[in-house]
Amino acid sequence: MPPESLGDGDTFAFDDLARNENLRVVIVGTGFAGLAAAIACARQGFSVTVCERSAGISPHGDSILFGANASRIFYRWGIGGDLYRRGGSRGGRWIFQDEKGKIVEQVQIGNMIDQHGAPILQGRRSTFLGSLGTEARLLGVTIRLASEVVKYWDSNEEPAVVLRGGETLRADVVIVADGVHSPARWLLTPHARKAAEKIPSGYSVHRSAISAEKLKADSRCSHLLDGTIRTWLGPDAHACTYPLDNGNGLAFTYTHRDDGSLASLDWRDKKPIAGMLKELQGWDPVLLAALSHFPSSLHWTIVDEKPEEEWISAGGRICFVGDSVHPMMPTAFQGGSQAIEDAAAIALCLALTGGRPDGVPLALETYEALRRPRIKEAQALGKLQQDLWHQYLPPPAARRRRLSRSSDSSTNAPGPSRPSLCPLTFALYDYDVENYVLEHFETFARAIDPDFVLKTSWREDAARKANIALDVRRASWADSIEREGMKVDEVG
Ligand SMILES: Cc1cc2nc3c(=O)[nH]c(=O)nc-3n(C[C@H](O)[C@H](O)[C@H](O)COP(=O)(O)OP(=O)(O)OC[C@H]3O[C@@H](n4cnc5c(N)ncnc54)[C@H](O)[C@@H]3O)c2cc1C
Repeated sequence: MPPESLGDGDTFAFDDLARNENLRVVIVGTGFAGLAAAIACARQGFSVTVCERSAGISPHGDSILFGANASRIFYRWGIGGDLYRRGGSRGGRWIFQDEKGKIVEQVQIGNMIDQHGAPILQGRRSTFLGSLGTEARLLGVTIRLASEVVKYWDSNEEPAVVLRGGETLRADVVIVADGVHSPARWLLTPHARKAAEKIPSGYSVHRSAISAEKLKADSRCSHLLDGTIRTWLGPDAHACTYPLDNGNGLAFTYTHRDDGSLASLDWRDKKPIAGMLKELQGWDPVLLAALSHFPSSLHWTIVDEKPEEEWISAGGRICFVGDSVHPMMPTAFQGGSQAIEDAAAIALCLALTGGRPDGVPLALETYEALRRPRIKEAQALGKLQQDLWHQYLPPPAARRRRLSRSSDSSTNAPGPSRPSLCPLTFALYDYDVENYVLEHFETFARAIDPDFVLKTSWREDAARKANIALDVRRASWADSIEREGMKVDEVG
């Protein structure tokens, strides 16, 4: 059975949906963190309402990548097959070149399903969000669009959000998933926020995606649609092209030094491509030919920050997930994936304290304790990756000196002193957040409240509703792909 048909229909019995009306969950934001938290909480039988300030799912942004650490959760929820059809990859080749186009390293990243138990998903942000939104609605989640949260009641008994227009929604727990500029942070933790305003990292990223038609007709660059990921390394800069929508599109990113004055913090801010092409003058003509087909790019300031100090409000019943608590650098390739991990983890933590209002404060504290080290690791790898890529080639002056000493064309080949350029965050793909939470919840919770006892029935119920037993299929996925004789490189 190929990955596109796994998990469809046979992973979840609807009678498991019996509502546990004891726990009312209000979620703020319909990004990946918010929608995933809604699905995970609804699967546990909680009553879920999501508030989103926009009038619909935002068409802004381009591509988003989910690693195996996130896609295995989508399979458990029964939506992995659908997402795979829209933009799946089992692996393939990654080629690294210098800015002139000379290959410096080629990596066969192998079959992700064999290696990590689930595929990579690389597709359009709006398409994937649409699938998650549909799934949430099918699970009975109430999604309230055009419902901006303008105020929070940080009560230790019954927290609430107030919508623009004055309506108040009360809950047992509020999950804030309002993104990197998190208006909730200013409302809930204004003093802490002042000390830690978003600080630009000194880099910005241009990014965009287009469908394949125009590129297919251009012989200079049509080969970029062959399913290979390509990265060009320049001085303190890099550009990448990624296959998208199963070979029907191409996305690019170009990350470079920026004093913070040109790029925006708003994902809707599009710029004509001409300005970027000017900056890239002298780079590989293949790359420039491909980029000339993109009409515009988003130009986004990269924020590089440690996870926030406050993950939970003073009242103990409002907590943060996703970018609102831990922005990721693009070179981590984990912003979306860590949002999914947060969402799966928080729903389990709430269920493992019995899915009851009185268990919420302990559930949230334990969630933070379980997640913080993992987030730090993902953020650190993203930073290290950028440093590795940006410092791989010496600065231009040093290169000129070196070239005048030697005409050896292998100068840039990775030697024993040069680490591989292959993405470091593949190391995060084997992690199974749901198994980790199930295994360690009691230990972490008892460190906070020594009297806590995890009931076997709570644990069994939570695991069953999250469909954690699906892991037993891991081996058979890989087997079935081999049986069907599919080659890794065939899939974009
Ligand atoms: C418009 C947009 C485009 C993006 N494009 C890309 C991209 O191309 N590539 C990429 O890798 N990443 C992109 N990202 C970021 C990426 O989606 C996130 O890093 C990651 O998925 C984590 O998501 P999140 O749910 O934590 O936050 P976000 O995706 O930022 O979602 C936050 C949500 O909260 C809503 N919200 C904010 N304040 C309120 C409020 N007061 N009341 C109600 N709702 C509120 C926002 O409208 C938004 O829908 C984009 C984000 C946005 C918002």
